[in-house]
Amino acid sequence: MRDANPQTIYLKDYTVPDYLIDSVELNFTLDDENTQVISRLTMRRNPASQSAGKSLTLSGENLKLLRVNLNDGDDLTAVDYQQTADSLVIHEVPQDQRFVLTIENLINPKANTALEGLYLSNGMLCTQCEAEGFRKITYYLDRPDVMARFRTTIIADKNRYPVLLSNGNKVGHGELSENRHWVTWEDPFDKPCYLFALVAGQLHCVEGNFTTQSGRNISLQVFVEPHDLDKCDHALQSLKNAMRWDEEVYGREYDLDLYMIVAVSHFNMGAMENKGLNVFNTKYVLARPDTATDSDYEHIEGVIGHEYFHNWTGNRITCRDWFQLSLKEGFTVFRDQEFTGDRTSKAVKRIEDVNMLRTRQFAEDAGPLAHPIRPDSYMEINNFYTLTVYEKGAEVVRMIHILLGAEGFRKGSDLYFQRHDGQAVTCDDFVKAMEDANGADLAQFRRWYSQAGTPVLTVRQHYEPTGQTLTLTIAQSCPPTPGQPVKEPLHIPVKVGLINRDGSVASCKLKDSDQASDEVTLSVTEAEQSFTFEDLTQQPVVSLLRGFSAPVKLAMDYSLEELAFLLSHDSDTFNRWEAGQQLAGAIIMRLIEDCRNGWNMQLDPIIVEAFRKVLEQPWDDLSYFSLLLDLPSETYLAEQMQVVDVETIHKAREFVKRTLAQQLQPQFQVLYQTNHRDESGQFDAGAIGRRRIKNTCLSYLSKLENADIQNWAEQQFKTARNMTDQMAALTAIVNNPHPATRQCLTDFYQQWRNEALVIDKWFALQASSPMPGTFATVQALMAHDAFDLKNPNRVRSLIGAFSQANQLHFHAANGQGYQFLADQIIALNTINPQVASRMLSALTQWRRYDESRQALMKAQLERIMGTVNISKDVYEVASKSLA
Ligand SMILES: [Zn+2]
Repeated sequence: MRDANPQTIYLKDYTVPDYLIDSVELNFTLDDENTQVISRLTMRRNPASQSAGKSLTLSGENLKLLRVNLNDGDDLTAVDYQQTADSLVIHEVPQDQRFVLTIENLINPKANTALEGLYLSNGMLCTQCEAEGFRKITYYLDRPDVMARFRTTIIADKNRYPVLLSNGNKVGHGELSENRHWVTWEDPFDKPCYLFALVAGQLHCVEGNFTTQSGRNISLQVFVEPHDLDKCDHALQSLKNAMRWDEEVYGREYDLDLYMIVAVSHFNMGAMENKGLNVFNTKYVLARPDTATDSDYEHIEGVIGHEYFHNWTGNRITCRDWFQLSLKEGFTVFRDQEFTGDRTSKAVKRIEDVNMLRTRQFAEDAGPLAHPIRPDSYMEINNFYTLTVYEKGAEVVRMIHILLGAEGFRKGSDLYFQRHDGQAVTCDDFVKAMEDANGADLAQFRRWYSQAGTPVLTVRQHYEPTGQTLTLTIAQSCPPTPGQPVKEPLHIPVKVGLINRDGSVASCKLKDSDQASDEVTLSVTEAEQSFTFEDLTQQPVVSLLRGFSAPVKLAMDYSLEELAFLLSHDSDTFNRWEAGQQLAGAIIMRLIEDCRNGWNMQLDPIIVEAFRKVLEQPWDDLSYFSLLLDLPSETYLAEQMQVVDVETIHKAREFVKRTLAQQLQPQFQVLYQTNHRDESGQFDAGAIGRRRIKNTCLSYLSKLENADIQNWAEQQFKTARNMTDQMAALTAIVNNPHPATRQCLTDFYQQWRNEALVIDKWFALQASSPMPGTFATVQALMAHDAFDLKNPNRVRSLIGAFSQANQLHFHAANGQGYQFLADQIIALNTINPQVASRMLSALTQWRRYDESRQALMKAQLERIMGTVNISKDVYEVASKSLA
């Protein structure tokens, strides 16, 4: 149900809680439909509160209240409290002494398809409390700045729920009548309720252990359903790697004796860092060489690391309020990115992260839902688990790392941990610790936290041969975003290198500095600013924004020749890749123009030569090599256009790919053949790189529609013993004309019908295919036995893949894609508002398209707005998109 006008919550209205909770005793008697919750809260007035009232307001939703009791006297009666749809107000509680409030209520986990609070997932009971799920379990001060000590007792049927888990350490267990048993858990660390977790079910576990740097032995457990026990080794090893890395890089040691991970199949997000008891989407735990791809393996290690790192950046030190979400997420994403970079290839990881940021976060930052990494307001906090808060948030932390250097950053993080351990703090507290530890001034830098939108850096260069100087003039601007018409200049670190025309490094010596080095970081702080380099006997080629040192768009007029030069010579791995992307992007954009003018497309030979050079060079890092051969995605190209023309983008990009395949066929074929070998179970960088470059070649060659190549793909599909190769072959078959498409899809389904995560891939692949008939396929798949609107992974793999990864068919000119998506969102609105709201993102960008598509998309958004019982989640996104 929705209020006529959902309430907007503002950061500026923050006040401290009127009451504090010292300890919580929870008692659950589990039942699928009637779980009884008894909560005993030891509370007191918050001395810092300014409010005069004597009443106490607790949050609670969808709860059947049975009893309220104060200080173990007689139960309160209806005159002593008031219940509303989302709260319980007790009119008077003691003001000058501690009091004990006991509340008893019932909840129905089976009816909980929103998957917040306590719910059923494949016969297992589990919780999700971030951001505001705990209020669906019992009445509570459900806000992150109320931190308390939890003791949890769970009572359940022994057969149905043999395993009973909660946070902290297990301190007691026993048997009860009627085949029931009980377990008590105690968490010695104060925590906000969003970190509470409970899991119960027929779970099996894989165990390991870890010895910390101070010599403590930690027991590690990964809980899964019995048939998944053979897919836990990688998760367990990843956890150990993360624990070691956090000790080495941040000096952080784990603090409990036990660390548990539970994999559940129905989950709205990726994973959740509940203290000592992480709950994970199965997608980020389960892996076996034949069921998971190399990128699945990498993502699992990254997400396991992410949730583990939260133990310090999120749990020990948490957010004061939800506006500060980026405090824990931005920092933790930065930490997991660095962890993965250290474990795999720093160059590849950086490119993948920036690629995602630029295609998806930049679009968010330019759209109707643009918000700063620390938003000023929200209606539904679940809508703010965004790429901006997470990924741009991580970029902001990365810039601090660049400005202070690795050592300075470590000093800052040490001070942050020391100063704020056990507290709920703000983004500002984090920046302050960084400043104080380094004597740095980040006053202007703080604007990154409050200003939305992607800044644009426009760079002009002027070489003065007589003085042998090069002057770079950098102007910064940022387009208006909702509620922020005018922007202040930001503090932007810009890494620069200079390259001589023969490919050698030119020394960077700034005017008025006596130091020369291979690379400098310019601090851009003004709207327009010039930097002069001296002692340059010839005009160098400028390599700007190395490593993508700031989340900005760069406008600098490079010629195609300069881009080809940088692709061959830049020593910065990111910029070298970027030069190739820009070169291909510029050529595709020109072809799009030609196409729209009705001219024949002709490929500029400069890109063929540039690719030939890349292909014929020996490479150590084969994954990086294969990235150099990737063309910019259709989504990224769409970002570069004023009015997105999906059909022509697709046509021009396909033309470039096919022509490159034709002209460089021998090179692609040799590379495919030398790197194609059976390497089941090999996950070293060499094997991963060989698979990656080989499959990139296959993807090019498949554009030729040549019978031999089609046969290679089919053979690879049939004989592969690892999912990377099987999936790559199937992708080549499904995304191009191939005589065996239907047969291979049927065989794949039969082979993997019992592996839910593999079947997700099967759905996603078909939904994102550019081949004709895809829309009819998607409609048919909606009725497939294996499809389930109540399972978020399935929804994302079919509806999400079609609307977000299939530009061509989703944006079909007749609007059928839009209508289809709106139908699904309306259905999901009552089942799972959080997932419904996420699916909406494909429609929020409607202003980017031509008039006819705009009208069609807008009409669907309006239809969604007219839904009866529209959820807060969907209402906020739809109404802001239309505003
Ligand atoms: Zn997180």
